[in-house]
Amino acid sequence: NVKEKGRADYSFYQTQMSVDLAARKTLEADMIRGLKNNEFFLVYQPQYSHIKGGITGCEALIRWRHPTRRIVPPIEFIPAAERSGFIGTLGEWGLNEACRQANEWRETLGEIPVSVNLSTVQFQRSDLLDIVRRVVKQHHVTPGALELEVTESVLMSDTERTFGIMQEMKSLGIRISIDDFGTGYSSLAYLKKFDADVLKIDRTFVSDMENNSNDRAIISAVINMAQSLDYHVIAEGVESREQYDLLMEMGCYAIQGYWFSKPLPADEFARFYTENQDKMA
Ligand code: C2E
Ligand code: MG
Ligand code: MG
Ligand code: MG
Repeated sequence: NVKEKGRADYSFYQTQMSVDLAARKTLEADMIRGLKNNEFFLVYQPQYSHIKGGITGCEALIRWRHPTRRIVPPIEFIPAAERSGFIGTLGEWGLNEACRQANEWRETLGEIPVSVNLSTVQFQRSDLLDIVRRVVKQHHVTPGALELEVTESVLMSDTERTFGIMQEMKSLGIRISIDDFGTGYSSLAYLKKFDADVLKIDRTFVSDMENNSNDRAIISAVINMAQSLDYHVIAEGVESREQYDLLMEMGCYAIQGYWFSKPLPADEFARFYTENQDKMA
């Protein structure tokens, strides 16, 4: 009976919808509880520059030490946090924590610039600049010590407003990097207009570059263009010596990837940093 079947499908759909909604609500409540309970933490992936001859900085990446699950990666909760708006609170926590850690390292290891990811949703909110100003003040963030990563989609939405926010961040001594470059749709004209500091080539171009001449051609073109616009280029997801050598040949400024180091908990990062400085000294 078609009519009955139709009704059955409809109610199935309804049920699915409420399950999804319930699941989302549960995840959001769980995140709120987790943040209160200090379950979120940051890991730090070192960035290495042959040109600078050492570690030039690190990217802070969020993790969730869930009480009943394994360590949860950002892909499993950032999208939900963006949908529910909790990313505002979580993002502010991450920014604070990264700057607190950098401040602590400044005393023991020296200045290590730290880079923090900003979600497009954080950019859309009206309180972003207030939060950033507060963090900079509270942790005495010095010029060049903090970098904020945005994706191409941020550059493309509400250009004038975004431009103003970025200018204000830069006037606070914050560096801006364009993350996952090449995966979005921004034109080269945006790069000229926004005057960011760093371009991060997405790892989809790097992962097979030793075999794929198209990927090599794209990377090489991006490096040359970035150099003439006075950007530093960082290649993401470098996993082999071969990739590293090719990138250095092309004049890439720095690399980030498992070949040099995975993202590390703060104490391991400090050890890794010290060992590498000793080796290079
Ligand atoms: P992303 O900003 O592009 O960060 C780089 C991602 O690549 C990280 O994944 C890192 O662990 C991974 N990666 C680094 N080197 C390699 C490599 O050699 N091979 C491979 N296969 N992967 C590598 P992760 O930590 O899972 O983060 C995923 C994404 O989640 C990030 O991509 C970023 O967009 C987002 N994210 C992470 N932390 C935060 C945060 O605090 N706030 C916001 N808004 N987003 C975050
Ligand atoms: Mg990033
Ligand atoms: Mg990203
Ligand atoms: Mg990236």
